[in-house]
Amino acid sequence: MTWLEYIVKAFDNLGGLASYTDLYEEIERIRPEPLSPQWKATVRRTIETHSSHSANHGPGQPDLFYSVEGLGKGIWALRNYQQFDTPASDVAEPESKYAIQVTLRVIRDSTLAHELKRLYQYRCQICEHSIVLNTKERYAEGHHIKPLGNPHGGPDITANMIVLCPNHHAELDFGARQLFQADLKIVKHSISQLYLDYHNYEIYPYR
Ligand SMILES: [Zn+2]
Repeated sequence: MTWLEYIVKAFDNLGGLASYTDLYEEIERIRPEPLSPQWKATVRRTIETHSSHSANHGPGQPDLFYSVEGLGKGIWALRNYQQFDTPASDVAEPESKYAIQVTLRVIRDSTLAHELKRLYQYRCQICEHSIVLNTKERYAEGHHIKPLGNPHGGPDITANMIVLCPNHHAELDFGARQLFQADLKIVKHSISQLYLDYHNYEIYPYR
């Protein structure tokens, strides 16, 4: 396997987004070949060569990685899993609404969301389900109750966040259900009633 393939595999195992520290740890775990003293620099250069977010983006190289919190913070995400198999010259297929949702979720998976998911051991606060990946790692999603960005302008703070399984995340994103404190089976951090009200009165009716 090439370095690029190991990096993509490591991102994949980490849910599509990782800090360099997490990425190095995962690569050490999955790569059987001995590592050279400069291997971490090789990883960083390989990511930068394959990202239009970097000044080192190689001419004609596919744009595979996305700098999540701006350059210099060291958090990168896989831009799009499918893009890896697609020649860069291909005209992009129109994305479905669901695909766009998934992309936004990955980009917004901030360090805060990561910590919150760890606090809940990757269990959904509504149904307690936790997905166990074939790498033995767990998977859950962080949800902003009052959505970030226009037109909602919700804040990126834990009082506005819950940890969910993908089904409950989709139900809330699409306003398919209401959300009350009593719906939460596991609660280890405080959630502001203000944001629950916002969901129930502003998101839920717009179906
Ligand atoms: Zn759930």
